[in-house]
Amino acid sequence: MKIHEYQAKQIMKMYGISVPNGSPAFSPEEAARIAKDFDTPIAVVKAQIHAGGRGKAGGVKLAHNIDEVKYYASQILGKVLVTHQTGPEGKMVNRLLVEEGSNIEKEYYLGFVIDRETAQVVMMGSSEGGMEIEKVAAEMPDRIFKEYIDPTIGLMPFQTKRMAYNLKFKDKVIAKAQKCMMDLYNLFVEKDCTLAECNPLVVTVDNKVMALDAKLQFDDAAIFRHPEIEALRDEAEEDPKERAAAKASLSYVNLGGDVACMVNGAGLAMATVDIIKFYGGEPANFLDVGGDSTVEKIAEAFRIMQSDDQVCSVFVNIFGGINKCDVIAGGIVEAAKVVGLKVPVIARLDGTNHEEGRRILKEANLPMVHAVQKMEEGAELAVKLAAELKAKRAEGKEA
Ligand code: GDP
Ligand code: MN
Repeated sequence: MKIHEYQAKQIMKMYGISVPNGSPAFSPEEAARIAKDFDTPIAVVKAQIHAGGRGKAGGVKLAHNIDEVKYYASQILGKVLVTHQTGPEGKMVNRLLVEEGSNIEKEYYLGFVIDRETAQVVMMGSSEGGMEIEKVAAEMPDRIFKEYIDPTIGLMPFQTKRMAYNLKFKDKVIAKAQKCMMDLYNLFVEKDCTLAECNPLVVTVDNKVMALDAKLQFDDAAIFRHPEIEALRDEAEEDPKERAAAKASLSYVNLGGDVACMVNGAGLAMATVDIIKFYGGEPANFLDVGGDSTVEKIAEAFRIMQSDDQVCSVFVNIFGGINKCDVIAGGIVEAAKVVGLKVPVIARLDGTNHEEGRRILKEANLPMVHAVQKMEEGAELAVKLAAELKAKRAEGKEA
């Protein structure tokens, strides 16, 4: 789960990390009211969207007086920002952060993520702050320093010291930089983060170490332990399909292609995404219906998959274990009744009760449903039928 920069800064502040004074604003007037109380000559007006790269896209502006604050706020609010992290469709700005301007001496990068290879949290730092860290990693990998953290002992002071020297913080701020690393690590662990990042972390001319930008992401599987984080959710920023899926306890990730898939088990779901690619198709989603499927849940899964306009076929790939093929088949029939099948459905049902499942589908006699025996056969057909429907749609001949 992602949250906004201003929310991340509030949490960082609770952990002892310095952040600029500021508040969220939802209108130009509110932005002006907030900036009136600032002590600094410059106010910063920042678009709040769940994506970075706002600066380059015109979503971060330095204002020199209240009129400018109002002007920039009115320019940014309601605008669709397209950054390297939003995708081409961009994201609409509904909130701003208005904060006191900082007098920056130097920008750094500081971040924590989980490294899956070592199964450890890794602290990453760079003196090339402010720019895209992906670019630094690709072009100047030697400028990124890493410290792997043993989960049984946590981040050690020698590691924060080594990082501070690697990034060449000046003597006056070394202790502050080390403390900032420790604070951010504690936050990362206690709040079950998957990412905690300051890009840039800055040293100001008056020797403060501050998080000028703040990004936190949380492990969805651990959100139940943090109702205070759940309360920060901004549904306007989330994919409505992913939201509906979470409510129905379906594990769904939008992948943007045109072959939807409905699978049981994360392993088979990944294999299904792979095999669709193998046959030259683009998976529209990853969808694991889990092990406790009901007819209603399957019907809801169909509603969600078909609400994606790009979807041109649905590949149902089920290996019945705890899930029973007759229940899945019942779900498809139910979906056809309540939701309606708008695209071809390729059903491969194998495992527990597959004879019964296949019988149910056969008797329902649904023209959109193609029953197949094998996974390869199903994937190939799903890709083929999706391509056909796509071509038809492109010609505008769709019925
Ligand atoms: P991002 O582009 O979405 O990552 O947004 P950031 O919050 O990182 O802001 C982009 C850039 O704006 C920063 O790297 C800074 O160079 C600049 N910036 C942000 N706040 C201030 C500020 O208070 N003072 C100055 N001088 N520059 C700022
Ligand atoms: Mn940034």
